[in-house]
Amino acid sequence: MALKKSWIASANSADHPFPLNNLPYGVFSTGDSDPRCGVAIGDMILDLAEAEATGLVDLGDEPLFEMPFWNEVMEEGPAVWAALRNRLIALLEEGAQERQAVEACLVPMAETVMHMPFMVSEYTDFYAGRHHATNVGTMFRGAENALPPNWLHIPIGYNGRASSVVVSGTDIRRPWGQLKGPNDSAPRWAPSARFDIELEMGAIVGTPSEGPITVQEADDHIFGYVLLNDWSARDIQAWEYQPLGPFQAKATATSISPWIVTKAALEPFRCDTPEREVELLDHLKDCGPMLYDIDLEVTLRPEGGEEATIARTNYKEMYYSAAQQLAHHTTSGCPMNAGDLLGSGTISGPEKDARGSLLELSWGGKEPLTLPTGETRSFIEDGDTLTLKGAAKGDGYTIGFGDCTGTLLPALSDPYAR
Ligand code: CA
Repeated sequence: MALKKSWIASANSADHPFPLNNLPYGVFSTGDSDPRCGVAIGDMILDLAEAEATGLVDLGDEPLFEMPFWNEVMEEGPAVWAALRNRLIALLEEGAQERQAVEACLVPMAETVMHMPFMVSEYTDFYAGRHHATNVGTMFRGAENALPPNWLHIPIGYNGRASSVVVSGTDIRRPWGQLKGPNDSAPRWAPSARFDIELEMGAIVGTPSEGPITVQEADDHIFGYVLLNDWSARDIQAWEYQPLGPFQAKATATSISPWIVTKAALEPFRCDTPEREVELLDHLKDCGPMLYDIDLEVTLRPEGGEEATIARTNYKEMYYSAAQQLAHHTTSGCPMNAGDLLGSGTISGPEKDARGSLLELSWGGKEPLTLPTGETRSFIEDGDTLTLKGAAKGDGYTIGFGDCTGTLLPALSDPYAR
């Protein structure tokens, strides 16, 4: 696969995140216009509500794009997803006949505001990165008990809060919570002092299901992927997490990147999960390459300071694919809906600078990071901006995700003080 050429010049560069090969889906607005569906191409957004109104894109009787979410398109299923992508390629490729009509529907990306690309029906977060689970388990329970006994057999997860998912660029407020450190004799009420990120990918369910589905079916049901930052209050988590798992530690916010990168765009980057140490039961076995080779990066910018890369890793480090997670999610009969969001779990690589959380990077605060300014970080400080970046590198082209960023604001005064 090589760079597909577009008549939009900015899309034809090896490093641009949004070439014709990508065509990611988002929701945008300009000025005081209503948010609507669009597709990124080079430095422009093709306004799909406008393209639909003028008949350039026609996928059926009901309008699909003059609305602030992609859920309607997701529910249409894979045949419509393919028809839309094929039509967009025909409109935007070099030599396209409708060029003049399409030009009237283009908006410069710099003049737009991005919104949540879909309504999150429900949000589940997994814990499927082996290096991350081993690192955190070693810190919390010791090296002998690092991986829980079920970990190599099922992708473990918890049900998160759809209401807490926000689009990139949304400020995050440091939460208060009940904390009890190992040396505290009693719990206390205070702002989290160990606020953290988790570098993850989010898989978005497109096709609804009722009852158990196979790993292959699950892969077919996934609409696309976003970058996902599962903001985490480690001190709240350490006190609350046994026996039912994380709760308030993960409920402040989860940020996602604004563009849904489709499975079709990622097709050339499929890769296998790692060697299995323990054979999986049949219903969870791999049935083809279902991870993706996507370079990932985390940067930290202190307030008024310069942005520094603090971690580099790759999505292919995961132990379980999103398809395996989705299949496992349905085994009980749990219905899944268009717009369900599945967090991969923190993606850490084997190297020290490939760790996807500050908890791991600073080893629980014992080995603070040094930033280029000489400042150090164990966890996030007020005013820090944390950004996730992702890109799949093809032969002469890039499939970019668009940044997933958020700035941590200081805690408010005690919400219960009188
Ligand atoms: Ca997580």
